Amino acid sequence: ARLVIAIDGPSGSGKSSVSKEVARRFGLAYLDTGAMYRAVTWWCLDSGVSFEDHEAVVAATETVPLELGTDPDEERILVNGEDVRAAIRGDLVTDNVSKVSTVVPAREVLVRMQRDIIRDSGERIVAEGRDITTVVAPDADVRILLTASEAARLARRGRQLGAAASSNLEAQVVGRDAKDSTVVDFTSAQDGVHLLDSSELSMEQTVQGVIDLVIR
Ligand code: C5P
Repeated sequence: ARLVIAIDGPSGSGKSSVSKEVARRFGLAYLDTGAMYRAVTWWCLDSGVSFEDHEAVVAATETVPLELGTDPDEERILVNGEDVRAAIRGDLVTDNVSKVSTVVPAREVLVRMQRDIIRDSGERIVAEGRDITTVVAPDADVRILLTASEAARLARRGRQLGAAASSNLEAQVVGRDAKDSTVVDFTSAQDGVHLLDSSELSMEQTVQGVIDLVIR
């Protein structure tokens, strides 16, 4: 039977690890939509597309030679045959990704691709991002907005990055959310979207919180 689980949240809310684990527990596919925005950003940087040239950004989004896996146990992200898993998490892409994600027609292209991936999974998937509960899959079986206090999100990103944490971590996390929210407003939960605050929860408790919402 179909089981589409939509999880939105700001950076550092823990939604990637949580979404992946929930996908494993239910035997579902996993879609990281943030990785798609990151891959397009990497492709623009690599192919010399200027972010100011919105038409070129949209064209790059339409034609990006992207291969994105949906196995929660094996991350697979290739652009033009190149493994970009590490590169798309680096500072350069992270600092520029909102220049792609704020281009509305580029979003429309990615939203279409995301809906295709959900359909191709047989509608058995956990999809995570910023606009999954509202735009990509408002008809999902379970819709969750995963939140966390700013302090908790900063601490998590810091731990995640470890020694590699850049000195502008706060600007990256908080600043990126501010830029993102010019296009996607995830502060106001929509009707039927469950709020799950993970500030005081461990990863396992958060996963359990999601599972409770799915099986209830
Ligand atoms: O989730 P992640 O931090 O990898 O997302 C990277 C960026 O991609 C976000 O900061 C946001 O600008 C954009 N994004 C988006 N809509 C999504 C997923 C990500 O705008 N559904």
